[in-house]
Formats: sequence, structure tokens, C-alpha cells
Amino acid sequence: GLTGNKGWTPHWRDPEPKPEYDIIIIGGGGHGLATAHYLASQHGITNVAVLEKGYLGGGNVGRNTTIVRANYMLPGNSEFYSHSLKLWEGLEQDLNYNVMHSQRGIINLFHSDGQRDAFARRGNQMIAQGDDAILLDREGVQRELPYLDFDQTRFPIYGGLYHKRGGTARHDAVAWGFARGADSRGVDLIQQCEVTGIDIENGAVRGVQTTRGPIRAKKIGMVAAGRSSQVAAMAGMRLPIESHILQAFVTEGLKPCIDHVITYGMGHFYISQSDKGGLVFGGDLDMYSSYASRGNLPTAEHVVEAAMTLMPVIGKARMLRSWGGIMDMTPDGSPVIDRTHIDGLYVNCGWCYGGFKATPASGHTFAHLLATDTPHPVAKALRLDRFRTGRGILDEEASGSQH
Ligand code: FAD
Repeated sequence: GLTGNKGWTPHWRDPEPKPEYDIIIIGGGGHGLATAHYLASQHGITNVAVLEKGYLGGGNVGRNTTIVRANYMLPGNSEFYSHSLKLWEGLEQDLNYNVMHSQRGIINLFHSDGQRDAFARRGNQMIAQGDDAILLDREGVQRELPYLDFDQTRFPIYGGLYHKRGGTARHDAVAWGFARGADSRGVDLIQQCEVTGIDIENGAVRGVQTTRGPIRAKKIGMVAAGRSSQVAAMAGMRLPIESHILQAFVTEGLKPCIDHVITYGMGHFYISQSDKGGLVFGGDLDMYSSYASRGNLPTAEHVVEAAMTLMPVIGKARMLRSWGGIMDMTPDGSPVIDRTHIDGLYVNCGWCYGGFKATPASGHTFAHLLATDTPHPVAKALRLDRFRTGRGILDEEASGSQH
């Protein structure tokens, strides 16, 4: 601003697609851009294109509620998200970019003795994994979050699980930082380039058809988040995914008043305050499959009712905006990072409503898989065939935690 916007250069080039690449990434969201960044920075593979049908960061990476945490419970997820949080903790140095990662702490509220037991078990697992967790009693929550309604009888607050290293990050900046990291090492980021077909010959990929013409490739990574099923269908695959809308809401900007992330799972509600001052909150899915990226009023009403139950003071704030994004939900709520049965075709999908926090680890481990053809040690349970073999990772049911 001080220079009157003069002399500014774009963060990344706007290249024409080349006829052939070593690796094509389908999808210029957080995970696709992170994959490209780590392919270049960790493996020295730079003859790579990221093909994005819209603009970089215009998908879910720019639509989420920005929560970053490592409080999963089950093996398969816990080491993966633990790895991700460690990457977050060094991300600004790695990218030389301010992604506004703020470890302000997350408190998951619980409302019964049974839920306390489940949260204590999860907290112990988090500590065993090397992450942090503190079990707060009711007074402990009251000290941290005095503005909640502790007299409400619908779901009385018994306590909370406090994960101090959890927090938020500025979602757009994460996309931009990874984009700049990849572009500056020679990766081509190609926007307005929709993949419309995947060419396969004799069981191996040969390239893609796009709205900007055909492009050949030795390897292809499908990283299309809420469109994963549609992209996989181009290779004749049917993924174990249902796509649903998740809505989010933001109020007008307020002075700092909420300095944690709070989740109220029983009411389907969670909230934090953005650095611009807006209260950012959301709830559960609109429970029908759809590719529309705006949700419906019954869910909005449900979320606002929960907000008023938990912290009636929120009724004084005015709502500014609401929006939705398409969540690719797997049957067990955990993601997939794997090869497919087609040579040279790899899939990264099924992030449900929790993929923003996974962005660095997803890119890091997917790049490892693409570069070495072996799964990264922290992602080796995230197999596509687990739905056939019965090795699902039902973390949400185990831990009662979302987002
Ligand atoms: P995207 O940004 O959607 O990237 C996929 C890209 O693929 C898109 O840009 C799309 O245009 C492109 N694409 C699709 N098809 C094609 C094609 N045929 N050709 C070319 N390009 C294509 N996660 C958290 O961890 N914490 C949260 O607090 C959280 N809150 C959320 C709240 C909401 C309202 C929503 C919607 C999501 C939330 N999530 C959260 C989930 C998280 O945003 C996603 O899991 C994650 O962003 C998905 O990965 P991505 O960034 O790569 O997706």
C-alpha cells in the first residue's frame, strides 16, 4: 500500500502449458500446491504442472474456517496430523511467507461423564503421540472462556480438552505461499485449465485432456478435493466418496473477544475470531449429497441456535456473510493418499471437513509418494483399499471431534 501498488510483481508466472510434464497435478487448491512445492523443494522434481480449472485457491482452501490442530486419536491419523502440525510450525520459515499461523489453543467442550472419559482417552493418545493435551474441568473452562453460558441445561458444560498448539492460519495466504514456493522453483501453475479427460493406454497414464488442449505426463496426481469423484471417473474409477455441502458464517468485525478456538460438538457448533475481527463459525454438513456450493437455511438455523445456546452474547453481533464448500466424505471420515490400480495415476482425496490442517502433510507425503513410489511412513495407513479390506480409521466416532 505504501508504494501505491507501483512496482509490485505477481507472486507467480502465468505460463502457457507445455506439451509434456514429468508430473501433472490436477487441482490448484492447498493440497495440490503443497504437493508441487514439496516435489520441487524436497525431491528436486520441477518439470511439474498444476492444472486448476478456476483460479488458485478458489476452492475449499479459500472457503474453510482455518482451524489447525493435531488432536486425532487413532493410529493412521494421529501420526499424520502430528507430522502436519510440526510442518505448520516451520511453514512460515520454509515458505518465507506470513501465513498468520496462530497457535491460540483449541478447547473441545464435553457435556457428560461418558464424554469426559472419551476426551481423557483421546488426550492421553495425543500426549503418547508427542502432542499436547490438558483436561480442563468446568472451572478450568470458566477461567479460559468466561463468556460461555455455564447455566444452560441443554448440554451443561462439564469441562474441555485443551490443545494449546492448535489454532488457526490465514487460508488464502497458505495457498499463495505454497504457490509462490512451487512457482519460484520452476513449477508451472496453469489456471483456467480444466481437466476434462485422463488418457490411459495399456493400464498406464499417458496424459490429460484439458480445456487448453491435451498435455502428456508420466505421472498424474488427482488432488481435486470436492470434485475427486468426478475427476476419478475420468479414469473409470468409482471412489468411496459422497460429496456434501459444509457451510460457514462470519459476523461483522468486532474488537478481540474470543482468543481460542472453541468446539461444541454436542450442539454442532464451533467458533474462533479472525484477525480481522469477524467471528468465524460453522456447524455440521447439509446432510444431502450435492455439488452446489451454497447450503440451506435449516442448517444455518441449527448453527445459530447452537451459538445462542452456548454463548447468548453472540446475539448482539450481526452476521456478515455465509458460504459453503463441497466436502468429499469417505465412509470412515479419514483421507486417502495412495496409488491407484492404473500405472502412474495417484489419488489424494477424502479430506472431509478437516483437510485444511492437513495441507502441509498432505502435500509433503503425496510428493513423497509421487517421487519415490513408496508411501511416506506417516501416510501409509491412508490406503484406498481399506474400504475393501475393512481397515477403516473411524476417528470421528472414536474421538467425537470434528473440524
Ligand atoms: P480445494 O481448494 O477445493 O482444491 C481443489 C481444486 O481442484 C479446486 O481449486 C478445484 O477448482 C480444482 N479442480 C476440481 N476439478 C478440477 C478439474 N477437473 N480440473 C482442474 N482443476 C480442478 N479443514 C480444516 O482442517 N479446518 C477447518 O476449520 C475447516 N473448515 C472448513 C469449513 C468449510 C466451510 C469448508 C468448506 C471446508 C473446511 N475444511 C476445514 C476442509 C478443507 O477446506 C478441505 O478439506 C481442503 O481445503 C481440501 O483440500 P484443497 O485445499 O486442496 O481443496
